Amino acid sequence: MKSNRVYRIALFDGDGIGPEIMAPTRVLLEDVSKRVGRKFEFDSLPAGAQHFARTGESLPADSMAAARAADAILLSAMGLPDIRKADGTEISPQIDLRFALGLYAGVRPVKLYPGQRTPLGDPRVFETDFVLIRESTEGLFAHKDEGQVVGGQYATETLRITRQTSEKLFDFAFRLARRRSAKRGTPGRVTCIDKANVFRAFWFFRSIFEERAKAFPEIAADSAYVDAFAMWMVQKPWEFDVVVTENMFGDILSDLGAGIMGTLGLAPSADIGDSNAVFQPCHGSAPDIAGKGVANPLAMFLSAAMMLDWLSDEHEDGALAEGAQMIERAVAATLTDSTVLTRDLGGDAGTSEISDAVLRGVAA
Ligand code: NAD
Repeated sequence: MKSNRVYRIALFDGDGIGPEIMAPTRVLLEDVSKRVGRKFEFDSLPAGAQHFARTGESLPADSMAAARAADAILLSAMGLPDIRKADGTEISPQIDLRFALGLYAGVRPVKLYPGQRTPLGDPRVFETDFVLIRESTEGLFAHKDEGQVVGGQYATETLRITRQTSEKLFDFAFRLARRRSAKRGTPGRVTCIDKANVFRAFWFFRSIFEERAKAFPEIAADSAYVDAFAMWMVQKPWEFDVVVTENMFGDILSDLGAGIMGTLGLAPSADIGDSNAVFQPCHGSAPDIAGKGVANPLAMFLSAAMMLDWLSDEHEDGALAEGAQMIERAVAATLTDSTVLTRDLGGDAGTSEISDAVLRGVAA
């Protein structure tokens, strides 16, 4: 019995629409925690573009330390295009967290709920339910601050693949496929996405995938080139189960996944390491709609559900998995009902109306 357990959640409210979607997420989590008999202690931590503009720091050491010590980290979105460092790039504490905490597995579910708007016309698109895992600490991002523009004539960036991270990444993908197979009663499958026909680094990546696949004989394993896979994501996304790829490819393909889902406002994510995890929507701070009360909070709600699921596994606490399902069911019911939808979903409701609809769904 774990009902006395208090889970400490570090919150990054972030920039733009960040605080607008974090506030109802906190209300939702408080509601769900009471229903499943668990307690959350929230700690709101300063970081982000506005904090950088005020103080010169985008992720203060104290915030980093508190996030590291928390049971889980929930982040909305950080960054504002007008606030930049001296080299012209934006601050990106969400990426700094991945590197500092070794969050190698970027988990990006691509799932459609009935009633959801999607640009794809084939009715089978509603069977789409796969998870894209984006390696999040190396690949083309490994040396992200060291790229060089030489003499105004050429530029170089370095792509790095390591055996240690790749093995952990692939084991994570196979374990996820195993859990999904048990939960859904379907055969498990992991597909490695690479460019092994052209680059040695990707041949190395694929060969480690094939080695690790041998440890999970009950899970089917195959590989595909990223260009073909991008086409299949549009033509037959319902055929995939777990797909795993390098950082830059995953960055691009996860937005393609959000495109299939009809809006970034429905795309949740998790960045998971050996002892820490950050949960956040795939979208950014949406400065074009910030302050208008029209942001879609559903990707943030679904990210909070992923957090509960992960905490449930980490602490063997089934009540939290129940909480995750409550949120997911309430989001699905809101989409299916379709009377209260934000603009990006084709409706005219604001953030607070759709948040209330999800809360009613949890209570139903
Ligand atoms: P964005 O995701 O913020 O916005 C892209 C488009 O999607 C915009 O039209 C926006 O209005 C819309 N959108 C996004 N989220 C929405 C929501 N919840 N509800 C309704 N509509 C939504 O991408 P961008 O404009 O390229 O980036 C804006 C800022 O966010 C930049 O500073 C960027 O660096 C930052 N960013 C942060 C993260 C992160 O924190 N993980 C991710 C991506 C971008």
